[in-house]
Amino acid sequence: MATVAAVPAPGLPGRVCDACGEATLVPFADLGDIPVLCGVHWADPEEAGASPVGRMVLASCPSCAYVRNVAFDPAVMVYDTTMDTNLHHSPAFQAFSAELVKHLAERYQLGGRRILDVGCGQGDFLRELCHTAGCTGSGYDAMYAGPVGPDGSGAVFHSGHAPRCEGLPDFDMFTSRHWFEHLDDPYDFLVDLRRRAGTRSVYGYLEVPDACYDLSTAGWEVIYPHVSYFDAHSLVRVAERAGWRVEDTGTFFGGMFRFIEVSANAGDEPRRGTGPLPGKAERDRQLTAVAGFAQRHAAERAAWQGRIADLAGRGARPVLWGAGSRGVQFLTFADPQRRLAAVVDVNPRKWGRYLPVTAHQVESPEGLARLRPEAVIITNPSYRDEIGASLRDLGVTAELLIA
Ligand SMILES: [Zn+2]
Repeated sequence: MATVAAVPAPGLPGRVCDACGEATLVPFADLGDIPVLCGVHWADPEEAGASPVGRMVLASCPSCAYVRNVAFDPAVMVYDTTMDTNLHHSPAFQAFSAELVKHLAERYQLGGRRILDVGCGQGDFLRELCHTAGCTGSGYDAMYAGPVGPDGSGAVFHSGHAPRCEGLPDFDMFTSRHWFEHLDDPYDFLVDLRRRAGTRSVYGYLEVPDACYDLSTAGWEVIYPHVSYFDAHSLVRVAERAGWRVEDTGTFFGGMFRFIEVSANAGDEPRRGTGPLPGKAERDRQLTAVAGFAQRHAAERAAWQGRIADLAGRGARPVLWGAGSRGVQFLTFADPQRRLAAVVDVNPRKWGRYLPVTAHQVESPEGLARLRPEAVIITNPSYRDEIGASLRDLGVTAELLIA
């Protein structure tokens, strides 16, 4: 049975909270060694099995509820264009992104403005924002594998990390979706952007996995590339401490994602959001989730290993649908023995290839019509309807299990 130590091995120095700077982080769960390259897939199963692992020791701030992997080693986490963490293959995510583009374009009057998109992925969001709002933009991502330079949308793409300090281009709004949590120095990143804004009126949009969701559930989203885990309160704290005014914050996508909108030099303009900003109540709720996490994670891990063994044992051919980072982490914790009959994904770039460490092979969902599994496991409840509909189209009548 899996065990999760509440206290890590000695030798990790105390670290002052990145978000509020007021307290030392306290370790609460040691998940051991987990795959580092959870967005990479290999042609060779042995290479996949030998891919690097890194230690995950979660620690929290008693003052603001920020959570961080205090064992994170930036030297092993190297991003390149072979990684594919693109969420844009999912229609549900595309629909959400389209709504977000409209919202930002209208709320911040982005026509003619300059956007800086840090961690732009394959550029889908920035391209759509430029197209819809009539703005221009610069996108940076070390995983960006498309053509570099200007494209027809008004965006200019760079394959590589965004420069820091003086190297940053001028911008009227910065956006960063699902990248902020990957940074080793999230506070310095926001300070940098704030300095670059100077005395100009500038806005910002950050989107991260919501740590309240991640740490109140089994923790399949606790993956090595995610260094920081921000909940409502700690995200506001880090933004304010870096000199930004918080315009709005909230969750979407079934509570899994959190956004924050910030401004600099907004003068006496009223705050854009209408709800109260998160405070002590949200912090305390998160600290409660943190306190129960190690035990909950260990119990879920053991329960899913048992469930998969039972299903496989009675010939139900259980499969996992979704080989993204969340799926990879689920496989690491719940199916290290590879008892699942298949792992499928809608992204054709993954078909026939092997996932890190556990070396499960990824197949096309079409294969399920032949395999006829009786149970399909998904790790992301937001995709329940989408995957349910795909199964019906394939003629597969399987029980859909949400991990
Ligand atoms: Zn703190």
